[in-house]
Amino acid sequence: MSIAENLEQVRAEIAAACARANRNPADVKLMAVSKTWGPDVVAEAFRAGQRLFGENRLQEWEHKQQQLHTILGEDVGQLEMHLIGNLQSNKTSKAAWVFSAVDSVDSVKVARRLNDVCEQVGKVLPILVEVKLSEEETKHGIGEYALSGLLRNILEEMDGLEVRGLMMVPPYTDDPDGARPYFRRLRELRDEAVATIEGLSLPELSMGMSHDFAVAIEEGSTCVRVGSAIFGTRTKYREDDKEEES
Ligand SMILES: *Cc1c(COP(=O)(O)O)cnc(C)c1O
Repeated sequence: MSIAENLEQVRAEIAAACARANRNPADVKLMAVSKTWGPDVVAEAFRAGQRLFGENRLQEWEHKQQQLHTILGEDVGQLEMHLIGNLQSNKTSKAAWVFSAVDSVDSVKVARRLNDVCEQVGKVLPILVEVKLSEEETKHGIGEYALSGLLRNILEEMDGLEVRGLMMVPPYTDDPDGARPYFRRLRELRDEAVATIEGLSLPELSMGMSHDFAVAIEEGSTCVRVGSAIFGTRTKYREDDKEEES
């Protein structure tokens, strides 16, 4: 199947999950996760109408972006690329420039560094806070008990950041339903934070991947991050969740 056909299939599955959950499909965004795939592949998805993408490494996207500029010309400006991978604090200033949004902020340190660059140039960067709900050492994210502190900090002290919601990667289970308690917990944490922190609004819940996005939609996801169901099985960096950004 072509990328265009895969995109169509995933969009149809999103619509079906929305129908089951009595949700409006317009409230669920599809992010195409293009990590490890070359610029030609990203361009193919772009030509099939896809605009929202996710990458997990800063340098990988920098290279791809240059090549895409050659392929797509000025149209590349329509492409919205979010960082969804771990960000080392020595790379934060660059990330604020090359990504439209950072969906993986998981510490006060990273938030502060991003904010400093943005405040200096008077820009406001949309971010999500990545939460870790499992004990796995390989996962990134802030623990649930530290979440409200970080959110308050950003809201009160960081005018260069607009926190728009939460992101989470659940532990892998063969049965997609195994992720359901984690998706539900993220939504509850969002609801609790919004109820207790004045002036905070967190409309976005980025959760669900190729294997479990239908379950995530049933639990309130507003953005599903789909890689392999669109582009095929990744042959390199397949264990990328376990690697540090290079
Ligand atoms: C790779 C990745 C995805 C996409 O995973 P698939 O299983 O290929 O859909 C989603 N979110 C994050 C954070 C990722 O690193």
